[in-house]
Amino acid sequence: MQFREAVKRSWYFGWKYRCVICGAGTRKRMTIVADVPEMTEKQVVGAEYVPSDDCPICYANRRSRLVYAYLTRMRPLRPGEVVLHFAPELSLYRFVFRRSGVKYHPADLNPAAYPEIPRVEPVDVTAIPYPDKTFDLILCNHVLEHVADDRRAMRELRRVLKDDGVALLQVPLALALEDTDEDLSVTDPAERERRFGQFDHLRLYAVRDYAARLSEAGFDVELAPSREIVGPRRDLSLDVNPLERLVIGRPRLGTVVRPSARLTPGGVAFRTRPGLRPSRARPASA
Ligand SMILES: [Zn+2]
Repeated sequence: MQFREAVKRSWYFGWKYRCVICGAGTRKRMTIVADVPEMTEKQVVGAEYVPSDDCPICYANRRSRLVYAYLTRMRPLRPGEVVLHFAPELSLYRFVFRRSGVKYHPADLNPAAYPEIPRVEPVDVTAIPYPDKTFDLILCNHVLEHVADDRRAMRELRRVLKDDGVALLQVPLALALEDTDEDLSVTDPAERERRFGQFDHLRLYAVRDYAARLSEAGFDVELAPSREIVGPRRDLSLDVNPLERLVIGRPRLGTVVRPSARLTPGGVAFRTRPGLRPSRARPASA
């Protein structure tokens, strides 16, 4: 056990909570997500306000416990497989990946934000510096709502995923929204928090639109209900959001992943559809 973790375990020691991921018994949990009334109104799942949700030792929360359940119950890791983990959750690194025998690549735009995880690679999710079909498993949880060109990021994630690979792609999802609320011109942190749930979020996804964007990028999308993922484990089922669905992307084979509706140097735009190559460029209409 790392020194830092040992100090935390002794400082927070208690009987009130037991973390299913790190196993620590603690006297308290932390509250990290802010209470934003607009998010409750929009029935946001994945970034909902939950008092005393976060383990003070490994920082596990509802959504990371759901991923933990998926990786331990539904898709156990195989030694030697190659994993790309964006914005790596400490709990999953320490208690799932570290001793699993996988080839583990933690990654983030800002590696300095992860002092407890060694060798986090500086990676921009919209330009992933790896060849096509490199990874068996990608975790990119609560990242895309921060990325201006999220569709480009989705295409990159799809590109580096092996044909039989799996990508876990959680974002905050607003169950009450028909359409994604997105406005890149909003830069005021308070306005972003009120509208999108956090000072640095650029949009708030509606479920159908989020799945559609992933599909456009070449993923088959599964929205797996949390109760199916945690199964009969009562300790876990009490500790995840019953309304959450884990967003699982698998490559839709035959998809040609190309930039959509982008102006080419010749001044024409084209769109691609799954399975089709753009047959000819059409004049830009606007
Ligand atoms: Zn923990």
